[in-house]
Amino acid sequence: MEIQVNQPLDRLNTFGLGARAPFLARPTDADQVRSALAFARERAMSVLVLGGGSNIVLAHDPEGLVLRPSMTGRCVLEDGDDVLLRVGAGEDWTDLVAWTLRQGLWGLENLSLIPGTAGAAPVQNIGAYGVELADHLHAIEAVEIASGRSRIFPAAECAFGYRDSIFKQAERDRWVIVALVLRLSRSPHLRTGYGTIRQELETMGIASPGPIDVAQAVIRIRRSKLPDPSVVGNCGSFFSNPVVDADTYARLLASHPGLTAHPQENGGFKLAAAWLIDRCGLKGTRRGPVGIHPDHALVLVNYGGATGRDVLALADAVRDAVEHRFGVTLQIEPRVV
Ligand SMILES: Cc1cc2nc3c(=O)[nH]c(=O)nc-3n(C[C@H](O)[C@H](O)[C@H](O)COP(=O)(O)OP(=O)(O)OC[C@H]3O[C@@H](n4cnc5c(N)ncnc54)[C@H](O)[C@@H]3O)c2cc1C
Repeated sequence: MEIQVNQPLDRLNTFGLGARAPFLARPTDADQVRSALAFARERAMSVLVLGGGSNIVLAHDPEGLVLRPSMTGRCVLEDGDDVLLRVGAGEDWTDLVAWTLRQGLWGLENLSLIPGTAGAAPVQNIGAYGVELADHLHAIEAVEIASGRSRIFPAAECAFGYRDSIFKQAERDRWVIVALVLRLSRSPHLRTGYGTIRQELETMGIASPGPIDVAQAVIRIRRSKLPDPSVVGNCGSFFSNPVVDADTYARLLASHPGLTAHPQENGGFKLAAAWLIDRCGLKGTRRGPVGIHPDHALVLVNYGGATGRDVLALADAVRDAVEHRFGVTLQIEPRVV
């Protein structure tokens, strides 16, 4: 297992932030993961697992070993109307979804074009357009960072929630996910009721859509909504939508009649962070190499050569402005390292 020294990470995160890894390993199977972990353990180093770097802000150079899971492979374990598909953690999620659709394996169409690796998908239970990974996950194969032992996590043990899982909570930073087993179907079960999918299908002139049409609609909507990280560095939505209690919502609505909000099961209201930022007049703001995208108030961008500190300074300014105007505190969605 080759361990590289003092490696640039700017091409390994979609923000394009210029951090360096003291040590970098790209294991291609579980044994190589164990070797890399043993290397770190013998030197009492910390380990950062870095997938596609699309949900991470590298504010500092990581310490210790950066481990980039690079296991590939797609293998049907069980075939029938339901299909169990094992995929390596290093598989690119977008390529994987497109490949399943070409095989006539349905289920992931609404999750098209989400950046990142398969191995990271369970960490925040990726979701889009009314579908989340948990709907199609059977099990996870992982290696424990501290000991190198293997463990299977059945989906029921992953405590999946909205953009949440055991890997962000109790088991955070304890495991390298090396493979997923997905449960897909040979029969389509289309979910077109979320967002503007139906409208987009209509625009495409498709009256009786199949799963590939739904995937195409999702891709078209996403391309029109979010900037492509390969064109301008970003990590998608930078702030989570804040949830406030009913009294706060009523108070805000009285002074800001256009306020956008979705009622929650617990009686609270989820506010649109993009709306709050936009109303502070920040869309399109630029501060040196970083800025807020001119069309997407929730997306911070790197126009070239930005550091994580530049990004966090802009994020602080945004949070201060929203707090000052609305009394609402925004939380950063990606992981800050
Ligand atoms: C333009 C854009 C659009 C996006 N749209 C969506 C969306 O619609 N829905 C959505 O849910 N997300 C979205 N995201 C966020 C992102 O795509 C997902 O969170 C994705 O799963 C991150 O994958 P990654 O491989 O890049 O993970 P990274 O950013 O590298 O890592 C994220 C976290 O997972 C951990 N991790 C990564 N790989 C492993 C592994 N193999 N084992 C253990 N831990 C691991 C890391 O340590 C880190 O804590 C978007 C991001 C961008 C840039």
